[in-house]
Amino acid sequence: MSTTTPDIQEINFNTDAATRDNVLITSLDKVLNWTRRSSVWPMTFGLACCAIEMMATGASNYDIDRFGSGPFRATPRQADLMIVAGTVSLKMAPRVKLLFEQMPEPKYVIAMGACTVSGGPYIKYGYHVLKGVDRLIPVDVYIPGCPPRPEALLEGLFRIQEKMKFERILDRERKNLKPALFVD
Ligand code: SF4
Repeated sequence: MSTTTPDIQEINFNTDAATRDNVLITSLDKVLNWTRRSSVWPMTFGLACCAIEMMATGASNYDIDRFGSGPFRATPRQADLMIVAGTVSLKMAPRVKLLFEQMPEPKYVIAMGACTVSGGPYIKYGYHVLKGVDRLIPVDVYIPGCPPRPEALLEGLFRIQEKMKFERILDRERKNLKPALFVD
């Protein structure tokens, strides 16, 4: 009986049936991307009501740990995912940028909720609110909603993991940082 997990088989190029379960033949990119996307560590960081949904995503009912993304880190230096959850006030904006810059590369950003994506309910009269966090830092995935449900945040995480799958380790800087993904 095979003891190889489907995940391992996914990165294993070894076609020899006799050794396939014990000898892995793979590329550095494949194995590194596999390990990275299996351990996406978000930063412990919330700005307003959307952060409650983010906390719910980490709690037992939705259990983000199932997807390898459980340990919310208390420092940007140990995190590779920033979930911007809540209203970004102009006062808070420089702190958000600083935290992003303190995260090591490669790093990813999810804009969670209408406020973060575009200013949300504050778009017209919120003189104190940034109208979209992508004016400040590059965003990989946008999640609309006020607030988005935990399922939507999990879907956002899956899109980030999908993105990681095809990255190349020799690309020292992430190219084409323009936002491309929307969760609907
Ligand atoms: S999008 Fe809605 S729930 Fe989220 S921070 Fe803004 S007002 Fe609050």
